[in-house]
Amino acid sequence: RAIAADLDAPHEKHSLLTGKDVWRQLHVFHGELRELPDRRAHELIGEQARRTPHAVAAVRGELRWTYAELDQRANAVANRLLAAGARPGDVVAVLSDRTLPWVAAILGILKAGLVYLPVDPAYPHSRIAGILRRSGTKLLLAEVPTEPIADVPVLPLEAAGPTIDPQVSVPADAPAYIYFTSGSTGEPKGAVCAHAGMLNHLSAKIDDLGLTEQDAVCQNAPQCFDISLWQVLAPLLVGGRTVLVPPQVILDVEAFVSTLDRERITVLQVVPSYLEVLLGHLDLSPHQRPTPRIVCVTGEAISRSLVARWFGCFPDVPLVNAYGATEVSDDTTHEIMRALPATELVPVGRPVQNVSVYILDSQLALVPFGAPGQIAFAGICVGPGYINDPDKTAAAFVPDPFRPDQRMYLTGDYGRWLPNGHLEFLGRRDEQVKISGMRVEVGEVENTLLRVPGVRSACLVVVPIGTSKRLAAFFTADEPVPDLKRRLADLLPAHMVPSTVHQLDALPLTENGKVDKAALVAAALRAG
Ligand code: ADP
Repeated sequence: RAIAADLDAPHEKHSLLTGKDVWRQLHVFHGELRELPDRRAHELIGEQARRTPHAVAAVRGELRWTYAELDQRANAVANRLLAAGARPGDVVAVLSDRTLPWVAAILGILKAGLVYLPVDPAYPHSRIAGILRRSGTKLLLAEVPTEPIADVPVLPLEAAGPTIDPQVSVPADAPAYIYFTSGSTGEPKGAVCAHAGMLNHLSAKIDDLGLTEQDAVCQNAPQCFDISLWQVLAPLLVGGRTVLVPPQVILDVEAFVSTLDRERITVLQVVPSYLEVLLGHLDLSPHQRPTPRIVCVTGEAISRSLVARWFGCFPDVPLVNAYGATEVSDDTTHEIMRALPATELVPVGRPVQNVSVYILDSQLALVPFGAPGQIAFAGICVGPGYINDPDKTAAAFVPDPFRPDQRMYLTGDYGRWLPNGHLEFLGRRDEQVKISGMRVEVGEVENTLLRVPGVRSACLVVVPIGTSKRLAAFFTADEPVPDLKRRLADLLPAHMVPSTVHQLDALPLTENGKVDKAALVAAALRAG
């Protein structure tokens, strides 16, 4: 907290930026300016399908779809949605595992000018219903027949339909998709992104990772994590293939490595904790050696020692530290490493094309070059905000001081510019934490605990386990609360459910009357 207050301090005392600072920042804080094609991603993928109809586009296990097959199935989805009454800008949720029809559904929704919203069938029913309600979802495409949820009519994910492209014209600033992330006030919030921001991110990935038709991109991210989208769409824009790897294979690292090898996967993006699992496995089984061409890590800070281990194992395979947020169309900076960086913290790199990064003080003024402050993103990446939530949108999306007709997104992250113009990530200014790369707002879990009948007070802490971490919840209640973990699992997605819950007579307090989180972490470590 003390550090946070210092990082947030206004910088008036530094007086104005010096002329040199302004000059450096103006050059440093913008990614390259690149013109994007005046077409939407799904149109470009349609053109690719006409160029290489027989090439393999999407793979899952034994199943392989060519570009022509995928395109036709996507058209069928689009036509079915339009026939069911969906109109431009309507939200269509997809309740499905990551299967080939799921890929067709994403493309079909975009082709019909609708807004894609993924929901994970493993989520608690109440959370799915809440997300559908909050987003005003019009139709639900479901893999498995289900009753309407939150009164939203259900269509089967797979069904026959006319396979002619409906040729719906979609403006570049129209919303393309929504991902719901954890919200600190107790409800998940739905970050909307537009077609232009999505295409910019896809083409940044294509250029910075050098994607071509030779590439097979691993699609391993859960469908409710925005990373899953580029893992599907970026390879399809260049004639490559997306290889869907089911969750049970990801959990079995040996099977995962075999899949990388068997499918000749060339491009992989994982969270640092999974990279660690992968390297640990390869240490034990050196005969199993996949040969990716390039690997990205994202979602949370990666340690220097993990990067060192990577290059010890794969000296010739570049490692890209990709940093961004769902609200700004996914990754907005890339650090492309070919060797261990010299700095103690692993940099998050340079802004990607058409994206600007500002480092701001508490008054939202630029800090001097190299000073720490809050990271804000501006440019084409900035999404319209949170669906049906003008208050949260207004708090996080504020006018861009350098382009008054545009907005910037305040990340809540601290960072600073390194002398070479690369960005360093310095942590969070609030209580958002990452568990396996996925966002968890401490406040959301605590509020959910407080909703359980009988619970009087609650506190969630993050407990280190080796280089990784887990959640532990402490609570007080009028009487014993049986099965609290199971009850939380009925309300929260698995990654947000604390791995241990502990009932206390009272929460320990520090001298100044706040909950003593350090004592709770120590207690969780003792309890094991
Ligand atoms: P994503 O766009 O990767 O899905 P989320 O929206 O889930 O990201 O979370 C965004 C937050 O995750 C960022 O504000 C930051 O706190 C953290 N984050 C993302 N990538 C990195 C990274 N490479 N290094 C450090 N923190 C990261």
